[in-house]
Amino acid sequence: MRNAELKDQRRSALQPPVLCYHRIGGPAELGVTRVAKSVFARQMTTLARAGWKTLTLDQFAERLRPGHSAFRTPHSAFLLTFDDGYASLAEHVYPFLADVGFAATTFLVTDYVGRLNTWDVRYTWHRLAHLDWDTVGRWQERGFDFASHTASHRRLTWLSDAEAAAELEQSRETLLHRLGPQAARAVAYPFGARDERVERLACAAGYELGFGSVRGNGSPLALPRLPVYLWDVGSVPFGLRGDGLGWLGRTVAHAASRCAVGTSLMLKLLSAPRSLLPL
Ligand SMILES: [Zn+2]
Repeated sequence: MRNAELKDQRRSALQPPVLCYHRIGGPAELGVTRVAKSVFARQMTTLARAGWKTLTLDQFAERLRPGHSAFRTPHSAFLLTFDDGYASLAEHVYPFLADVGFAATTFLVTDYVGRLNTWDVRYTWHRLAHLDWDTVGRWQERGFDFASHTASHRRLTWLSDAEAAAELEQSRETLLHRLGPQAARAVAYPFGARDERVERLACAAGYELGFGSVRGNGSPLALPRLPVYLWDVGSVPFGLRGDGLGWLGRTVAHAASRCAVGTSLMLKLLSAPRSLLPL
């Protein structure tokens, strides 16, 4: 094994696991990222009872620093994250998490805070509402973290340098202005899509941490996350299981996140001039 690979492996062994949820409960959808409320509640209660703790973004970043001793924070600690920032999080997810003593980091599509999810493919009959700034501010005061999911949720790897930089920079500026520097340090790339160019642009925009899909590459701007999908209905999500089922679940999640390219393609077609659309 090459030295660099070995170093990456050691670093990812030190990285606490990062779970990635999207929508909890609410109307059914055609996609696979909605997790039922009862499943989510069972998973969080099981983890809390088993002694798992959630990390704040600060504590997570601290764990990544070279020379950090893993003994300073509990072994069973993870970062709980939500993508897209749907309004329903504040209705039944955050209050439930606060009850079990957990906190979470939510990645906001900053141009759509307080608006409907018109950026997405229409998976549900009605459009879904996003969190608004007042609600975000209230939960930030209660120890919940917020960060960037770019300005308008476009697939960064398909954009020009200027477009991708604008998505990253404008979103960070908005967060800095609305919520302060704590909210401007991390980004979750839409669809988990990143490459070396995107990592470079995120770094230039001022982000310290960048979250991608199931596989990372050892860089703080290409951190792996473990998505929880519709079929992940056990008491402990696949991402935190050490057994064979956990490995299988993570492999399926990797395949599914690659399929997210289908959603991006559909969005691209829908936003294309009419003459480019198939009849
Ligand atoms: Zn997203």
